[in-house]
Amino acid sequence: MCGIVGYIGENPSKEFIIDGLKKLEYRGYDSAGIMLYTDKAYLKKAKGKIYNLENKLSEKKLNNAKIGIGHTRWATHGIPSFSNSHPHKSNSGDLYIVHNGIIENYESIKEILIKKGYKFYSDTDTEVLINLIEEVKKVNKVKLGKALKIALNSVIGAFAIAVFDIKNPHEIVVAKLGSPLAIGIENKNFYIGSDPSPFLNFTKRCLYLNDNEMAILSMKKGLILRNFITDSVINQKVENLKFEIEQVEKGGYKHFMLKEIFEQPKNIIDAIRGRILDDYKIKFSSIESHIDKFKNANRLIFISCGTSWHASLLGEYYFEELARIPAGVEYASEFRYRNPIINENDVIIPVSQSGETADTLAAIKLAKQFNPFLFGICNVVGSSISRETDSGVYIHAGPEIGVASTKAFTCQSLIMLMLSLDIGYRLGKVNDEKYKQIITEIKKLSRYAKKVLEEFDNIKKIAKKYKNAKNFLYLGRGYNFPIALEGALKLKEISYIHAEGYPAAEMKHGPIALIDKNMPVVVIATKKGSYHKIVSNVMEIKARGGKVIAVVTKGDTEIKKIADDIIEIPDVEELVAPIIANIPLQLLSYYIADFKKCEIDQPRNLAKSVTVE
Ligand code: GLU
Repeated sequence: MCGIVGYIGENPSKEFIIDGLKKLEYRGYDSAGIMLYTDKAYLKKAKGKIYNLENKLSEKKLNNAKIGIGHTRWATHGIPSFSNSHPHKSNSGDLYIVHNGIIENYESIKEILIKKGYKFYSDTDTEVLINLIEEVKKVNKVKLGKALKIALNSVIGAFAIAVFDIKNPHEIVVAKLGSPLAIGIENKNFYIGSDPSPFLNFTKRCLYLNDNEMAILSMKKGLILRNFITDSVINQKVENLKFEIEQVEKGGYKHFMLKEIFEQPKNIIDAIRGRILDDYKIKFSSIESHIDKFKNANRLIFISCGTSWHASLLGEYYFEELARIPAGVEYASEFRYRNPIINENDVIIPVSQSGETADTLAAIKLAKQFNPFLFGICNVVGSSISRETDSGVYIHAGPEIGVASTKAFTCQSLIMLMLSLDIGYRLGKVNDEKYKQIITEIKKLSRYAKKVLEEFDNIKKIAKKYKNAKNFLYLGRGYNFPIALEGALKLKEISYIHAEGYPAAEMKHGPIALIDKNMPVVVIATKKGSYHKIVSNVMEIKARGGKVIAVVTKGDTEIKKIADDIIEIPDVEELVAPIIANIPLQLLSYYIADFKKCEIDQPRNLAKSVTVE
C-alpha cells in the first residue's frame, strides 16, 4: 500500500514522478504529494487523487528539478488529509521522506522527540521517523546515510522509504524492510518505484532491495548498497526486466479490471507455456527437484489472504483429490499470531499475487523457525515471497493493476490444478487416463475462457436487472464453493453491495432465513459433482421467493426451467469447471459496479498489494 516514486539524475523529474504516481495509484489514493528540488525544495500536496496534485504544479521552476520524491497514500496513521500527506519534512526543514509501511513503535519515539522539543504537524508515524533520523544525524554529527542506518535499527515495523537532505542535494537514500522497493538504473539516472512500472519506459535494469537493505543513490559516487543491520556492503544484483509498458496500460478498455478480465485467455496460455509439453506431460522443474518433499509431506498448509485464500481453498480440494495429501488453508493474519503446530515434514505453500503481502510474509517468517519446506505461489517475479521461500512457481498472469483481482485468481487456480495433477501423477495417485483427460481440458482452457467472455452482453443485462439489490448470496458446492466465496468478494469489493458466499447445503443452517423476493442468489451449478444436490438447493430458494441467477453447463435443461436468469459455460471436466465458472462472476460484479458508477479500479478503502498488517 502507498506508492513511492523518486528520481535523481540528469533529466527533469516532475513529469516522471507524476506519471509514475499515476501508475502506482492502484496502491493507494487517499492523497498525493511531491518534493521537487532545484535551488530549494518545493513541497506540494493534495488530498485525493493524483490529478488534484497535478493542478498545483504549474510553477515554471518546478520543470527544472532533476531530483524529486513523490507519494500516493493509503492511510494507516491519521486520516486522509493535506497535513497527513507525504512527503513529510523534518523540523529543521532539511530532510524529506516518503514512506510505505508502518512504524509500530512510533508513539514511544514521538514522546522522546517531543521531550527534546520536536513539534509534529501530522498524525503520521512517518513524520516521527523523519524527525528521528534528524535527531540521530544531529547528535552523532553524521551524514544522512549513516543517520538512516542508526535510526532504522531502533524502529519496529515495516517500511520502504526514500529520504532526501537539502544539505547534500546530490543523493537520495532509500531503505526497505517488509514493504517493496525497486530501483531502475540507467547511466547516471536513478529511478525509484514501489514497483518498476513507473520507470519501465526509461530502463529495464532494475535492482529490487531486499529486507534490511539500504542504497545511497549518489550523483557523485553511483549506487552504494548496504545491509543496515550488519553494515556490510552488498554486491548489486541488477536484473533485466522482461515486461513491457503496454502491460501496465489500459489499452482502450474503460477500466484495468475489464482489460484484465478480457485478457484471461492469453494469461492462461502464458501460465501453461513450457509447463505442458507436447507429449501430455506436465513439467514444473521446482516440483521435479523437490518431489520427495511432497512425497514425504505430513500435510500441506496453504497460507494466504483475500482472493489468494480462495484460490488456496480450491488448491486444498485439488491436492486432496488428486495427490491424496492432507491439506489445509490458513488466513495468514491468523496463522502468524496463533502459535500453530508446524513440523519439518509439512509443506507450507504461501500464495500471494504481489508476493509482498505483509501478513503472508510474517507467516513465512514464523514457519521458518520449524524448518518446513516452503513452496511459494506468486505472480510478481522477484517479489519478497519468491525470495523468502525454498522453491515455488510463478503464475505468469502479468502485471495486475485493478485492485480487485481477476486474472491472478484464474491463473492461481489453474496453477493449483496443474501442480496437484503433476504431483498426484508422480506419486501414482492419478491414473494415465485421468491425467490425460485433465491435461486435454487444460489445453483447451484458453478457448473455453474466450467462449465465456462472449457471454458478456447477457451478463450485462443481468447486472442491470439486479444492480439495485442491497444483498446477494453466492452458493456453490465442492470445487465451486471457493468460486462462490470469490464471486461474493468481487461484488463487495467494487460495487459495495453486501454479499456472502456459502456452501449451498449450509443454507439450511441459517442463511435461508434471509431469502425473500429482494434477495438475488447466484448459484454455481455446473454439471457433474453435486449437480443434483444443488438442483434441490435451487428449488428451496425458489420455494421461498428468492431470485436465482444460475451459472450452468451449456445444454442444461433442469435448472434452466427454475432459475430466473442463466449464464452458460462450456461443458468441461469437473475439476476444470470452477476456473471457467469464475469468469462470468467477475463480469457480473464489474457491470453491476459500472452501472452504479463506482470507482472500479480504485474502490474506496482498498488498495492493491497489502504491504501493511
Ligand atoms: N504509515 C504511513 C501513513 O499513514 C504510510 C502508510 C502506508 O504505507 O500504507 O501515512
